[in-house]
Amino acid sequence: MTMNFGMSAIDISIDSKLNNFRKSGWIEFRIFEDIELNAFAYREDNYQYLEMNFGTLYLIRDSFFTLFSTKEFLPEIGNSTEEITPIELFKENFETNSKTAKYFKYLPKCEIRQKCADLMSTLAIQFIYSHELKHLASCHNDYSQDKYGIKRFFEFKPTPGELAEAFDSRAMEIEADEGAMMFTLMYVKGMVNMGKYSSFEPYNPYLIWIYTMEILFKLMNPNESYFDDELDSHPNSFIRTFSIYELSILEAIEHKLIKDEKEAVSIFEESMKLQTSIFQKIGFLPFDKSTFEDNKTKMYSYRKRVVELNETELPPYIKLRKEFVEEEYQKLIKLRDAT
Ligand SMILES: [Zn+2]
Repeated sequence: MTMNFGMSAIDISIDSKLNNFRKSGWIEFRIFEDIELNAFAYREDNYQYLEMNFGTLYLIRDSFFTLFSTKEFLPEIGNSTEEITPIELFKENFETNSKTAKYFKYLPKCEIRQKCADLMSTLAIQFIYSHELKHLASCHNDYSQDKYGIKRFFEFKPTPGELAEAFDSRAMEIEADEGAMMFTLMYVKGMVNMGKYSSFEPYNPYLIWIYTMEILFKLMNPNESYFDDELDSHPNSFIRTFSIYELSILEAIEHKLIKDEKEAVSIFEESMKLQTSIFQKIGFLPFDKSTFEDNKTKMYSYRKRVVELNETELPPYIKLRKEFVEEEYQKLIKLRDAT
């Protein structure tokens, strides 16, 4: 169903980047029988769990397959003229699936487009997976459990009870997104190295990455407000996508996916055009918008809090986590040597 969660598809040529995830130790991956789109990072005793509803996996895959089955979506890939699904059906299909889980009614006819639908859904799911992984690796759960009594990080959850808790939560979401950005760009580079992204030609792999992220956030919140409420657990999608895009530029240059910042800006603009035109046709539009400056100011305040947390409150938890992981590792070595 999902593929390439293993390290073989990840570009490990920049080893230091992987350290962001290594210190999390052993993590159990659970899939829940629930059609609602949601994912969780959870800790019980000293053990960590990365959890997803199967509805998340299926709805995302179904959405990319349906998009590729229309001739309007990334028309330069494969033979888009063969595709017959009217784009106007997307919204109804998405809403039906969210409630009834009747997936894969519309599939692309062109084989190259089928393959690209598969690759883009895998990339989107990788983002969610590594976002949860980053919550665990950075000990967001340990900190929130201690300070606010929160055990589970929901991607969609009830409003936090107090302002400080909500603000910390939004900051940690920005950090988890940053980790997921790094992880998915390593993944894209790994796939490019293996020649798996040639089906997307003539589109640049970095454009495909940005576009996948924009679609993912749109699927998670089709008509959300671009205002940030002081009691929200997550920043709005505008802030989140802008933040990962801005932080991705240097990463993408380092991975040689793009030459420079100028190329990043032109690819971002191209992606925005593609996104706006598709979602206008579909009818997934934000119901209101805050100003760009206001959202940017909020984004920087969350990033500032991330730096603060990493300088002050998170390190003791990360130290304890490392000690626990080391202890567990030594236990495993003993077990191995005893057999
Ligand atoms: Zn999160």
